[in-house]
Amino acid sequence: MKLILLFGIFLGITWGLETFEGDQVLRVEPCNDEQIDLLKELEGLKPLQLNFWRSPSHPNEPADVQVPFACLQAVKVFLELHQIKYSVLIEDVQALVDEESREMHLNRQRERGCRNFNYGTYHTLESIYQAMDGIVAEHPQIVSKLQIGETYEKRPLFVLKFSTGGERRRAIWIDAGIHAREWVTQATALWTAKKIASDFGNEPSLTSLLNTMDIFLLVVANPDGYVYSHTKNRMWRKTRSKIPGSRCVGVDPNRNWDAGFGGPGASNDPCSDSYHGPRANSEVEVQSIVDFVKGHGNIKAFISIHSYSQLLMYPYGYQCTNVKDVEELDMVGRAAANALTSLHGTRYKVGSICSVIYQASGGSIDWTYNYGIKYSFAFELRDTGRYGFLLPAKLIVPTAQETWLGLKTIMEHVRDHPY
Ligand SMILES: [Zn+2]
Repeated sequence: MKLILLFGIFLGITWGLETFEGDQVLRVEPCNDEQIDLLKELEGLKPLQLNFWRSPSHPNEPADVQVPFACLQAVKVFLELHQIKYSVLIEDVQALVDEESREMHLNRQRERGCRNFNYGTYHTLESIYQAMDGIVAEHPQIVSKLQIGETYEKRPLFVLKFSTGGERRRAIWIDAGIHAREWVTQATALWTAKKIASDFGNEPSLTSLLNTMDIFLLVVANPDGYVYSHTKNRMWRKTRSKIPGSRCVGVDPNRNWDAGFGGPGASNDPCSDSYHGPRANSEVEVQSIVDFVKGHGNIKAFISIHSYSQLLMYPYGYQCTNVKDVEELDMVGRAAANALTSLHGTRYKVGSICSVIYQASGGSIDWTYNYGIKYSFAFELRDTGRYGFLLPAKLIVPTAQETWLGLKTIMEHVRDHPY
């Protein structure tokens, strides 16, 4: 009887979930513009159902692509035919997905036993929202929860506010998980919430920061996508809004901001993973953040957390010209990356979005920078591709710990350089 019940639960978990048996992630290393163009052509071939984890950018910069089992041979033949260098990063995507859900399942059982929240595992949206409530309940003198809006599917968008009082103090904004499948980011943000709450009053630097400034933390910026990545498709990136006249769902919420909207590095194809949407701010998740930032009026740093690639970037993405504060942002970025590296040796690249990845329009930090928020940064957390979006749960806490050192370096600079 117990066995049947267990089997039923297991079926319930996997029911309706897209599987990736035999899919591989290939690391492709184009060595000239012609090979990049060939890869972009490949990306446009719908029947292949390729899923670019990392898009082709410059010669000698790798692109990572998940290839369905059924097309593997064809794609490999194509690459060999055109003498494009590639290697296999992930042998079987489903094996890693299975490992990840096994780990989550085991953790749920453990938590039922002892009720201690485990920051070193991946959680459902429900569980993350409960943990946020737990942090608020445990540290009411410093943390409160605000709702800044509602998603397309009517889920609340919750922000944690860390404040010691005052009205509309200078503030730092941090968001994670605007891309659903980047699970280490939501997990890192949640760990960070706990870290800020428990360090306040104990750690002098953060305490002094919170004595004059507030921190706003949006742990899950794309809740609909996050739920979908748990229940239907682990590799989901976009929102879940319906596009009139298209069978495809969702907009890339980091191509949807009003900064070079619709320009290079975004797609006008609703079926693309980088579809910019019908108009700037069409996604209610984006509009909600824009409204909050404008309504607050005193946000001095805006930090957006993504994965993967180990990068720390500043504007611009939509154009390849330097921002006027490039020297200061580069200096702060390098200091933050050095602090991050000091803990576990994780190495980061620092630069403008356009220089370290590729031209990409409609991104959040370009909009915030143009809006007047000088300290606008985007992180791409671990790793560099060994596991990509399927970073093992045991690496969450080390990732969060090192990221905290980077975040703190930026926040301290903002504290000490009012503008
Ligand atoms: Zn992302």
